[in-house]
Amino acid sequence: MSSPFENLTKILSQERQRGYDNKTVVGGLDRLSDTWAGRAVSQVGTPEERALIEEIAGLLRRYPDLEVPERAALIEAILGKVAQVPELVPAMREHAPAGASPEALAPAPSERPPETPHSGPAAAAPQMVRGTRPESAREVTSGLDAPVTRMSGIKKGYAQRLANLGVHTIGDLLYLYPRRYLDYRCLKTINQLQYGEEVTIIGTVWDCHARDTRRGQQLITCTLSDYTGTVQAVWFNQPWLVDKFTPGTQLVISGKVDQYLGRLVFQAPEWEQLDRKQIHTGRLVPVYPLTEGITQKWLRSIMNQVVEYWAPRLPDHLPAERRDSLQMMALGEAVKNIHFPNSPEALEAARRRLAFDEFLFIQLGVLRQRHQWRSAPGRPVQVRQEVLQAFLDSLPYQLTDAQRKVLQEIVTDLGQSVPMNRLLQGDVGSGKTVVALAAMLVTAADGGQCAIMAPTEILAEQHFRSITSLLDAFQQAQPDWQFPVYLLTGSVPASQREPLYEAVASGQAKLVIGTHALIQETVEFNDLRLVVIDEQHRFGVQQRTMLRSKGYNPHVLVMSATPIPRSLALTLYGDLDLSVIDEMPPGRQRVLTYWLSPLERERAYGFIRSQVEQGRQAFIICPLVEESEKVEAKSAVEEHARLARDIFPDLKLGLLHGRMKADEKDAVMAQFRRGELHILVSTAVVEVGIDVPNATVMLVEGANRFGLAQLHQFRGRVGRGEHQSYCLLLADTTTPEAEARLSVISSTHDGFKLAEEDLKIRGPGEFFGTRQSGLPDINLARLSDVGLLELARAQAKEIFEMDATLSQPEHRLLAQKLQKVWQMSTDPS
Ligand code: ADP
Ligand code: MG
Repeated sequence: MSSPFENLTKILSQERQRGYDNKTVVGGLDRLSDTWAGRAVSQVGTPEERALIEEIAGLLRRYPDLEVPERAALIEAILGKVAQVPELVPAMREHAPAGASPEALAPAPSERPPETPHSGPAAAAPQMVRGTRPESAREVTSGLDAPVTRMSGIKKGYAQRLANLGVHTIGDLLYLYPRRYLDYRCLKTINQLQYGEEVTIIGTVWDCHARDTRRGQQLITCTLSDYTGTVQAVWFNQPWLVDKFTPGTQLVISGKVDQYLGRLVFQAPEWEQLDRKQIHTGRLVPVYPLTEGITQKWLRSIMNQVVEYWAPRLPDHLPAERRDSLQMMALGEAVKNIHFPNSPEALEAARRRLAFDEFLFIQLGVLRQRHQWRSAPGRPVQVRQEVLQAFLDSLPYQLTDAQRKVLQEIVTDLGQSVPMNRLLQGDVGSGKTVVALAAMLVTAADGGQCAIMAPTEILAEQHFRSITSLLDAFQQAQPDWQFPVYLLTGSVPASQREPLYEAVASGQAKLVIGTHALIQETVEFNDLRLVVIDEQHRFGVQQRTMLRSKGYNPHVLVMSATPIPRSLALTLYGDLDLSVIDEMPPGRQRVLTYWLSPLERERAYGFIRSQVEQGRQAFIICPLVEESEKVEAKSAVEEHARLARDIFPDLKLGLLHGRMKADEKDAVMAQFRRGELHILVSTAVVEVGIDVPNATVMLVEGANRFGLAQLHQFRGRVGRGEHQSYCLLLADTTTPEAEARLSVISSTHDGFKLAEEDLKIRGPGEFFGTRQSGLPDINLARLSDVGLLELARAQAKEIFEMDATLSQPEHRLLAQKLQKVWQMSTDPS
């Protein structure tokens, strides 16, 4: 026997294996929306689960009407949702035998859950309190570093489960924030109850009994009364409740008021005995991220212990005076209220304080890094204006004002003895490469070596090609200035590597283009003076540091086409100076963007065909199915096969996805670039920097599931040549947010504006994986909260200017915490 979600998962997996023929269930999968959903609703615990079941039922109803790829996408979407519901009564999962059949739709009688730990500080952490004297900050810190097993309620098995949530120490628990809160503050008497509302009542148990239902479940029915009336609450498969709810017991019940046979009833509500401290009912109740084998109720109780004991003891790393002047909540208070908020206002204040801290530590970290990087002297480049001018004269176009301005900033930096650390931001196609090349030439003309590092071989080769051709005219006009360009990637054959290494080591190679190979292999430069890093969000701080360490503290220029608002850039990349190309080269055509419904898919295909007939090429991006490259690759393979078989049997189609090896990807891209493929079917991997001027159509399937920044990157893949280009966005089921995104992208072409809109629509930390960028995690801070961001930045600057090494006594805790926060993400050198 198994839980309803497991059954559903099995059925859907079978359907997937059968190729989505809608025959897994007699009568079709849409019938599940009645049969399965009907039963499932009565088997699950929480209102969220019931809502999920209803949502799934709604989706399944459409199944028979869908085409195969849509069916596939639908099923993946449902499986994705189900996989995110770890709170399905854990006992059920553990006891589900491996081979349960889809017919076995009845749930297992779940077992008694683990004893909820007793609350109260005495039980919370007795081992950690020696004697009764107040703990010093140091003891508190080491207490927080103790493993969770030091808590009386956490045995080893639970510690392992908590580890799945990234929680190892007691301190980790404190910083495991709720995902959201249930508002059970609305306390009513029984006669005031209304169908559909989320409320809390206090009642006395009159009667509680269990009986077996026809489907083999155990139904526990409890009748409660207050002085205004009676109401029933029911639970499934928790027979021990009968012993607990003896007549006369006073209970607090929180949940959504449901209806059964015309009478109001609570279905599996949260409950607590009235004489206990309320942590599950009658308040803003935290809802935590869970993992298998851990229930909300258990985790909440543990959290309550931890918070109760530790929050008042948490030393605040923010000096009191500063905290007061900022009107920030004290740390302990904030931690308490983020878990068990006293009120929505207190929750907001707690969030503000903790989000401020996240920004502050990022900012303090990057300031420190900047300080370190600037403290070792670099070597100034003697800028020869005549070389620069000759290069600019040799270009087939004039630099835009924006390009000229940033080039000036860069050249000025190069001439300084403090090493340059500059971020060059510019939308896709704004012409960053030529600016970087000018800087490289100036450096090379002074005898220095330059390296440009790209995130993929494809992009490195692309740079090699475009830089070689940009240099062509210059070299012809200036026979005195010859700088051969070297390409160093992982796929350079071993036989050619030695001479290449030698040229680099001797200093003869002045312009070197490469991938990670530049830092991973035993490459020795003679005089590396300028390093250019393209598409920086793919590189961690650590890699930057490594490359830097290869030269003599070289100048570093980081280029990014991920446009982010200035205030955010200054915080996240505060260790870098910022240059922005905020203007496009003239005559750049606008990519016409259309938002289509799935009904218009055939038309879109027809359009692609007509473009191909005119000699153009197209991209088709597959829907984002799940955060799993494997599943994504599979669906891309299927979509490619379907398109090749049913839609474009006469055309040449290529396939690109993240599970392919680097050389396979490169081979396909090369074919596409050479025009040997008409259409490239791809997952999101095609996103960055690819330049195929002959491609004029970008068709994005499931466009509603992509973020704005990503859609903008997709769109940037076309419109790179002389031909009018088109971006077709196919969106199936949409949410209001997806609609907002789609209408913004259809009408806005400015990457910076889009990024700002994107930030408004998205939640905290989602903007980019900060993991990738080597920054500490952002959990509570909203990147769109410019006010708080700037406050934190100003504060960090002030602190840093006062005490750069954080060695003053009032900054000791701050220094400790800073070390810890950054240690987890990277090891700043
Ligand atoms: P990105 O900033 O996305 O890296 P690129 O450097 O690849 O942009 O430039 C995009 C295209 O624009 C290239 O084909 C380049 O030759 C061209 N380009 C760059 N600057 C100018 C300019 N000032 N005028 C006209 N075309 C330009
Ligand atoms: Mg580029």
